[in-house]
Amino acid sequence: MAEPSFTPGPLDRSDRVYIAGHRGLVGSAVKRKFEAEGFTDLVSRTSAELDLKDRAAVFDFFAQERPKHVVLAAAKVGGILANNTYPHDFLSENLQIQVNVMDAAVEHGVERLVFLGSSCIYPKLAEQPIHEDALLTGHLEPTNDAYAIAKIAGILQVQAVRRQHGLPWISAMPTNLYGPGDNFSPTGSHVLPALIRRYDEAVRDGVDRVENWGTGTPRREFLHVDDMAAAVFHLIEHYDGPDQVNVGTGSDVTIREIAETIAKVVGFEGETVWDTSKPDGTPQKLLDVSKLAEAGWTAQIGLEDGLRSTIDWFHENADSIRQ
Ligand code: NDP
Repeated sequence: MAEPSFTPGPLDRSDRVYIAGHRGLVGSAVKRKFEAEGFTDLVSRTSAELDLKDRAAVFDFFAQERPKHVVLAAAKVGGILANNTYPHDFLSENLQIQVNVMDAAVEHGVERLVFLGSSCIYPKLAEQPIHEDALLTGHLEPTNDAYAIAKIAGILQVQAVRRQHGLPWISAMPTNLYGPGDNFSPTGSHVLPALIRRYDEAVRDGVDRVENWGTGTPRREFLHVDDMAAAVFHLIEHYDGPDQVNVGTGSDVTIREIAETIAKVVGFEGETVWDTSKPDGTPQKLLDVSKLAEAGWTAQIGLEDGLRSTIDWFHENADSIRQ
């Protein structure tokens, strides 16, 4: 069958859209974005209501609800420690979730589906900034290779559906995300929420010294999750193609700069010490976002503004987060 043809343009605001993972960091932002854009028929289920690993239940859900479009933001997600400790769970659960949702979506002829992956799909030693063409050109980072392979299988499934069934589905690969709804747990969080929590607690407890791991020199790219949701929304209306699209800001900052900005925003005036005996991780990770720019979208939310709204959210939800 020929490649699908899709006419770019606004979707009908009354179309039914299923947002899988609507309580997660990404899914909740995507839901807010669709609501803000005037969509009136959004459907979603928590994992307790619909376990996407349950194939029969997923097919029943699609038969009942018949969504016209799907944003697949449900996944088993975790930090390095969790990925490294439970590789089988990350591989198996993500494959099941993706395959079940996409198979049911094929059966019901879902028109637009956006599959969300992650920048960890690219080889560990990929040239920076990382272009989409780097996919499958080298070895993966071993600590999260099982998760990455599941995500690569998802990209391939989208491409296969396009070829075999002619449905104009797409894949988007976000860089590191942050924002309201992030995971601030002391054990499972990523670097940015972990730093927010550390500096905020130092201010709260009157501590005048904060210690961070490493040298602070590694460079990382961070995208606000509302920008991510805006990018997903732009792509679903305007992009068509088999290749995954990187979603990022196109620029990176050092961990030290991030720490300084967070300290400024939370009002920490003490000393920051860098424990250089601890590992730094990879020196740079930056996505090439030229394909996204060609598709007509660039990030809007600056880092300091984004941090302010994230820290505000953290304060507003501190009681439930700190339990
Ligand atoms: P979260 O952990 O915040 O949310 C994941 C969501 O998936 C949850 O709402 C959960 O539902 C749902 N889910 C998990 N397992 C199941 C299941 N078996 N059945 C039904 N629903 C399930 O993840 P993120 O929002 O951060 O990530 C979403 C996507 O974005 C992932 O594909 C991830 O790879 C990608 N991404 C995220 C990045 C980040 O920095 N956060 C960076 C790059 C990519 P419930 O709440 O109801 O249990």
